[in-house]
Amino acid sequence: MEEKLKIYNTLGQKKTIFEPFNPPFVGMYVCGPTVYGDAHLGHARPAICFDLIFRYLQHLGYKVRYVRNITDVGHLESDADEGEDKIAKKARLEKLEPMEVAQHYTDSYHFNMDSLNVKRPSIEPRASGHIIEQITMIEEILKNGLAYESDGSVYFDIEKYQRTDHYGKLSGRVLDDLQSQTRTLDGQNEKRNTYDFALWKKAHQEHIMKWPSPWGLGFPGWHLECSAMSTKYLGEVFDIHGGGMDLLFPHHECEIAQSKAANGKEPVKYWLHNNMITINGQKMGKSLGNFITLNEVFTGKHELLEQAYSPMTIRFFILQAHYRSTLDFSNQALQAAEKGLKRILEAFAKIENIITSEKSTIDINDLRKKCYEAMNDDFNSPVVIAHLFQGVKIINNCLEGREKISHDDKEILKSIFNVFLFEILGLKKEKNEQEAAHSTNSSQLIDLLIALRQEAKKKKDYEAADMIRNKLSSLGITIKDTKEGVEWHIN
Ligand code: ZN
Repeated sequence: MEEKLKIYNTLGQKKTIFEPFNPPFVGMYVCGPTVYGDAHLGHARPAICFDLIFRYLQHLGYKVRYVRNITDVGHLESDADEGEDKIAKKARLEKLEPMEVAQHYTDSYHFNMDSLNVKRPSIEPRASGHIIEQITMIEEILKNGLAYESDGSVYFDIEKYQRTDHYGKLSGRVLDDLQSQTRTLDGQNEKRNTYDFALWKKAHQEHIMKWPSPWGLGFPGWHLECSAMSTKYLGEVFDIHGGGMDLLFPHHECEIAQSKAANGKEPVKYWLHNNMITINGQKMGKSLGNFITLNEVFTGKHELLEQAYSPMTIRFFILQAHYRSTLDFSNQALQAAEKGLKRILEAFAKIENIITSEKSTIDINDLRKKCYEAMNDDFNSPVVIAHLFQGVKIINNCLEGREKISHDDKEILKSIFNVFLFEILGLKKEKNEQEAAHSTNSSQLIDLLIALRQEAKKKKDYEAADMIRNKLSSLGITIKDTKEGVEWHIN
């Protein structure tokens, strides 16, 4: 493959040829969920987009260490270091241990992601399991003079950082604007500047998740965990950092500042951000009543849904848009995705029926090349899907005799689907629930009839035994008496 992978970097806003620091190793960090509620559509998009990237890098032969964290502490209700911890609040309302809440929603997140065929990351660290690393990092930042302690809390000193660096370089924000935009909230008198953010927060009496630190009992600021855990598992400098566009500011901006202040190095080579999902043109939000969990999508139990949509329909729908493009969720678009995926899978199932010819009338290598070109162009999955539809057309034309394909080319055609549709796009054939239930029921009934026939034979009622055998045979089910017992198969 002469084509090289080009990826778009949010930092610098341009596409460049991907060059890992230490090939064939690639370090990739993606901000994971805060586990205080069921996974929703907004969780599906980053998980699937970065799964695509993970799969493709592996396909290219890179040894990828993919770290995706679980936020189980420190994510407050407001991004401005204020409000209750999201997990602690849920625990208080439901009278549970905070870790019970975190475990429950971590399990449920895994269950949903497994159904979407999202590969598990190489490491999935929890923020609460890395308090020591976070404290150590704060100490480094303090030592380097870029943070200050104030009444048991530690804040990042943005003004000082700004003297040698640029806070806002990722999101394109300007500090002066930030100052005027930041509201004055409780606790802000502890800060030198309203835009300074917390590295460590003093815990009040009623706060349930707290740890001892050199600054007293408290808990880490939300942004810190990602800097501490990415450094621990991927090193001070690593290749790819991903997440949703909503995390660009302040979360990722803070991550850069923290890592740089602690380690003195620009931590990330390529910043990748997926765009958001809108619902019928609107931003998704609990207050807007258009907040749809994945369980609701898979069962169709939400007033905005006309039907249930399977996990593979959702995956295909998400991959039909480039990860940096907007994506609007509607029943119409999902039904189209469902039909589209069905068409591709049905065509793939018919490849074996194609009778090959000596020579091909089609250029199948060109199709494969185009699929690679699309993936190499910043993981352009919608273009890959368009090429797969071209493959569907080729299959149908070959079956109907309008085109001819050689044996070798047919193998290549098959491999295009195996590689791009199944391995890289991560789609798979789903068992139709009804079909599956039907086939379980039928096989249980056949087993029951066979048991009755055995009973009849034992009682020497050969007439009944033969009748069962003949009736089954007339239904296309053959039974065979073997030494190991009775075997049956459907003809
Ligand atoms: Zn993060």
